[in-house]
Amino acid sequence: MSKNWYPVISQEECTECGSCVEKCSHGVYEVGVKKPIIVNPDECVDGCRGCQNICPSGAISYFGDTGQEVSACGCCSCS
Ligand code: SF4
Ligand code: SF4
Repeated sequence: MSKNWYPVISQEECTECGSCVEKCSHGVYEVGVKKPIIVNPDECVDGCRGCQNICPSGAISYFGDTGQEVSACGCCSCS
């Protein structure tokens, strides 16, 4: 678990579909009034891109993402 890697949601691109909240099994997200809220960034797993991979609007990026290859975390939300 890390404070060096967690999702950031583009408020402009998010269409409020809720898929990221359903996908993450680590309790990082909470359903907000409209957009999901990142309530537990510390629980996000280094290198996981599970929510980014299923976001239909490309609204999710990661704090700590340098664009370099990150080894797959293998967590249950990853695939
Ligand atoms: S699905 Fe993976 S990348 Fe997305 S918030 Fe959960 S642990 Fe982090
Ligand atoms: S999956 Fe993407 S579009 Fe859907 S709520 Fe999450 S950030 Fe928004």
